[in-house]
Amino acid sequence: MHLDSLAVHAGRRPDPVSGAVAPPIHLSTTFVRGEDGSYPSGFTYARDGNPNRKSLEVALAALDGGAAAAAFSSGQAATAAVFQALAPGDHVVIPRAAYHGTGRLLDEIFARWGLRHSLADSTDPDAVRAALEPETRLVWIETPSNPTLAISDIAALTTLAREAGAHTVVDNTWATAVAQRPLALGADLVMYSTTKYYAGHSDAMSGALVTGADDDFWARIRVAQATGGAVASPFDCWLVHRGITSLPCRMRQHTASASTVAAFLAAHPAVEAVHYPGLPGHPGREVAARQMALFGGMVSVQPRGDATHALAVAARLRLFTRATSLGGVESLVEHRRSIEGPLSVTPDNLLRLSVGLEDPRDLVDDLAQALANAR
Ligand SMILES: *Cc1c(COP(=O)(O)O)cnc(C)c1O
Repeated sequence: MHLDSLAVHAGRRPDPVSGAVAPPIHLSTTFVRGEDGSYPSGFTYARDGNPNRKSLEVALAALDGGAAAAAFSSGQAATAAVFQALAPGDHVVIPRAAYHGTGRLLDEIFARWGLRHSLADSTDPDAVRAALEPETRLVWIETPSNPTLAISDIAALTTLAREAGAHTVVDNTWATAVAQRPLALGADLVMYSTTKYYAGHSDAMSGALVTGADDDFWARIRVAQATGGAVASPFDCWLVHRGITSLPCRMRQHTASASTVAAFLAAHPAVEAVHYPGLPGHPGREVAARQMALFGGMVSVQPRGDATHALAVAARLRLFTRATSLGGVESLVEHRRSIEGPLSVTPDNLLRLSVGLEDPRDLVDDLAQALANAR
């Protein structure tokens, strides 16, 4: 099956008991044993597994062409499970340009458990190679990166990591499996904040990992999931799985509208810089065109002026709601530096746009009036 068909059908079938076409939500925390003490349904206790989580994991694995998937209570819980699968003394390389929460997990939690890490400019494979140490067990990749849309060459990085005996994980939250398939480019694992595009409606908190191989590393991640207990609730699994059915359609429209918005901003005299991998002149455009089927729905823009001016532009917007997060049907705008805290390296006039499913002409009109009127 092609991706759109998998999105609708993988892990979904009419309920054999009730005939319900939309799947039921299973709230039960516990499952009945047979007379011989076995578990005929395959489920024992909801932290270990639940029908909604299982069907979601089937769909997640199918979309990425993976061997298996694991659903978590948030993207951060999924990331933490990867780090928990490593051992004290192991070393991790993470991108300098990445979601700030990934580095914070390492700094604030895992450093105390003896996991060491280095930052590298992952848009340059030589810089990542230079950051490798004999104990490096994991190379983290995020492309396009949050919030500057830096592009890293997944095939080049997975090749050099494999040569060094390190696993690779790609945070594919911004691209989704619709736009980018990291396992096919050599990655061992794919990580998602499914809170974003997968759920797609800003109403479900969850995360996921997809693995290419059902190996020992994956077994340790499964232990972190079930024993650590940061699992997605049945209702969140249900919402994310429903979101997946329309994900390919939504991603195509998010991308079409983001391209329109990015082109408009790039031609605007009050704009200093636009970050969108589909724009001519974006430093990662060639690699992005090679490894992505779509350029995605995220655009970052730096209006000419300082942070105060950028905040004034955001305040003038009417259709873009000022809020963090991304990937929902509604367009959002965020002054990223404010949420990233004092260690942020994001330019202080940068606004991040999550381009939603409104008519792109209305979004362009809204940006035009905000740029014209901001004082
Ligand atoms: C939001 C986000 C995360 C964290 O996911 P949560 O669901 O908020 O825990 C990780 N990576 C990227 C790229 C994100 O945008």
